[in-house]
Amino acid sequence: MALINTPFLKVVNDEIQNKIDKKVNQFQAINRDKKLINLSSGDVIRPLAPCVMEAMHKAIAEMGDETTFQGRGPVEGYPFLIDAILKYNFKNYKIKIAPDEVFINHGTKENLAGFGDILCRDNRIAVIDPVSQEYIESNVIGNRAGDLNENLQWSHIVYLECKKENDFMPEFPKLRPDIIYMSYPNNPTGCVMTREILEKWVQYALKNDILILFDATYKSFVTNPEIPQTIYEIKDAKKVAIEFRSFSKNAGFTGLNCGYAIIPKTLSGYSYIADKGANLNALWRRRLMIKNYTPPYIIQRGAEALFSQAGLKWVRENVDYYMSNAAILRQALTDAGLKFWGGVNSPYIWVESPYDSSWKLFDKLLNDCYILSSPGERFGPHGRGFVRLSSFANQSKVIMAGTRIASMK
Ligand SMILES: *Cc1c(COP(=O)(O)O)cnc(C)c1O
Repeated sequence: MALINTPFLKVVNDEIQNKIDKKVNQFQAINRDKKLINLSSGDVIRPLAPCVMEAMHKAIAEMGDETTFQGRGPVEGYPFLIDAILKYNFKNYKIKIAPDEVFINHGTKENLAGFGDILCRDNRIAVIDPVSQEYIESNVIGNRAGDLNENLQWSHIVYLECKKENDFMPEFPKLRPDIIYMSYPNNPTGCVMTREILEKWVQYALKNDILILFDATYKSFVTNPEIPQTIYEIKDAKKVAIEFRSFSKNAGFTGLNCGYAIIPKTLSGYSYIADKGANLNALWRRRLMIKNYTPPYIIQRGAEALFSQAGLKWVRENVDYYMSNAAILRQALTDAGLKFWGGVNSPYIWVESPYDSSWKLFDKLLNDCYILSSPGERFGPHGRGFVRLSSFANQSKVIMAGTRIASMK
């Protein structure tokens, strides 16, 4: 019999999702005529930009003609997309990113999870909490998370508790980690790091020789110029950080899967056993050759179109649509007298449950407002007591949801 990956067994069963499904089924059984408004989604709903469609149609035609046909693309992505990215990004910062520091990928989720392949099992990994659980679970599946203790925490993971008293900003851990996972604007709390706070973390990483894996999936939702959109706005961040970016949320690419990572050539790792260092950019390139193909030519041409004048304008409007949803929800929550964070510079709103558990607020939203939310537990142990609302929904539904929330008792 094939032996299976034992640590993985501990995360195979998604008990929280099972509990949500059960509650939703119960609701639907009692309320057959009621339609739920889904404000729990981490997926977008608006269609692709016309310029993206046009570029992809053109690319399909090229694929069908022998003179313009494209076979397998370069593993790190097509130069036309890398050039477009560099032309419109990082221009206003003091740092320079070289084309061979950009890796086009199938999205942040897959890329961040796969990155563990080139890292040792013995790293101490710090993860902000609450946060997307994939950061932890991808380390579990790669057998890099250690053992699960009685508090349901993994021995190689340092949970950086983000408390409401600190507006959900983490504090430096007691034990020095080797790697830190961070994500700002944050999913689920909707909180953003100020330049000053991000500077402190970059300084801490420089001083302690720590690698920061920075998930900047929501960077386009930042409108306040005081809030960094990229970790590379901070001096010397290139010496400590890899940044992951995605077209998923700002440009509706969740059905196309395309994003990119910046892996500076200045980053190295070390092997005690081999007693030598290695360049992370080179290691990752080699890893891609073993496990990955670049995203399809058609999709990369679609992504390139996002950097045209029409594309840039469209992305702005798309993000504005979701942010006006967030504003509607914020107003409704204020009217209902609920305490919340986020919804500014971020599509997510993190609502404190006025009851003794997140589930009670989840139930009230479900049964009184016909709204599906996400209980905070879904995002880690320190998510307890909160629910997340998402602005990735149709605006007419959000307006309806807002009216119901505002009159919630
Ligand atoms: C949605 C989401 C992702 C997914 O990005 P893809 O590029 O679609 O894989 C990554 N990180 C966070 C924090 C997200 O919320």
